[in-house]
Amino acid sequence: MVGAACALYAARSGLDVRVLDRGPVAGGTTGAGEGNLLVSDKGPGPELELALLSARLWAELADELGTAIEYEPKGGLVVASAPSALAALRDFAAGQRAAGVTAVPVGADLLPDLEPHLAPGLAGGMHYPQDAQVMPALAAARLLRASGARLHTGHTVTGVLRTPDGTVYGVRTDRGEVHAPAVVNAAGTWGGDLAALAGVRLPVLPRRGFVLVTEPLPRMVRHKVYAADYVADVSSDSAALRSSPVVEGTAAGPVLIGATRERVGFDRSLSLPAVRALAAGAIGLFPFLERVHALRTYAGFRPYLPDHLPAIGPDPRAPGLFHACGHEGAGIGLATGTGRLIAWALTGKAPELDPEPFRPERFDTEGGDER
Ligand SMILES: Cc1cc2nc3c(=O)[nH]c(=O)nc-3n(C[C@H](O)[C@H](O)[C@H](O)COP(=O)(O)OP(=O)(O)OC[C@H]3O[C@@H](n4cnc5c(N)ncnc54)[C@H](O)[C@@H]3O)c2cc1C
Repeated sequence: MVGAACALYAARSGLDVRVLDRGPVAGGTTGAGEGNLLVSDKGPGPELELALLSARLWAELADELGTAIEYEPKGGLVVASAPSALAALRDFAAGQRAAGVTAVPVGADLLPDLEPHLAPGLAGGMHYPQDAQVMPALAAARLLRASGARLHTGHTVTGVLRTPDGTVYGVRTDRGEVHAPAVVNAAGTWGGDLAALAGVRLPVLPRRGFVLVTEPLPRMVRHKVYAADYVADVSSDSAALRSSPVVEGTAAGPVLIGATRERVGFDRSLSLPAVRALAAGAIGLFPFLERVHALRTYAGFRPYLPDHLPAIGPDPRAPGLFHACGHEGAGIGLATGTGRLIAWALTGKAPELDPEPFRPERFDTEGGDER
């Protein structure tokens, strides 16, 4: 998704773009996550600014690409089960509002108007009309097509070509060399490996997430609905299993129940504790789900950087190399803003957004890798 957005905005800035991927389109984490475009889960700061820019760009693309990317401006609803959680949610929303987010308090009595099938007894919630959704694999494919970039699937990058003075001038692949004055590393969870091919360090780690998919249903869940403690899970540095329910209906019918977070390397094996935690949490929010069949589960590996911010921009350690990776659980939402930032960097235009917090070399000042 991130590579597709970089290709789109770079091409629209007048650049000649080639996209290389060792697999098919959306064969990485993009094809293994959900497609929420969220501002609701981000506190004031650089990630929220990028999310707000990205949300505007997604809405523009939706106007242009129509239903082809299954864009749905459905809004998010965050609910609190206890008065203390509601107070914390209100404080969080006040900070977000000051940063440009629309956050509308919803009293307990009004929750059923937004979500008729929610569990009774919740303390209240917050409605975020700017939250939206796309179908990630479709969006990646459509953005690539719209970019007009030449696409080379089944090409594995095996080296980054550098002149004796260190300037990057292309990549080596298992099918030959590709020369270019600029190379963008949009390798997601494998972005650290690609950086290493250029001799630079970028500590991207996998953070596994499971999603549970129900049988198709009539639309029972209208918004993206999640519990207030989800935000704490997202920003947690813990390697242990964390799970807070995130429930959403889809245009096709199945309800998606996400998402766990744990750092277990690239282990793909099914984790019953993770899937059980998802099911229990979702039933807690929407009791009717207890009677619904789960059809399947799938897992993906979020590209995790230790400070939870992506790496976006030129790498001064390897002139000609740019990074656009490490978006963790928000790479679909943040893809458009990232693509725009990369296009600005490639063409030397002044960015509308301060790129400083996303500097790829920022980890060089800290200690060793986090494992
Ligand atoms: C369970 C789960 C739920 C999620 N839900 C959401 C959500 O609701 N909203 C959201 O915004 N985000 C969500 N995410 C996160 C999101 O999926 C990722 O942040 C995003 O997909 C990252 O996109 P990417 O393009 O950076 O990486 P990828 O999609 O992984 O793309 C990287 C590409 O690089 C290619 N590649 C790697 N190495 C090489 C090489 N050496 N040569 C050639 N090609 C190479 C791979 O084949 C891959 O196609 C979720 C993730 C998970 C796991």
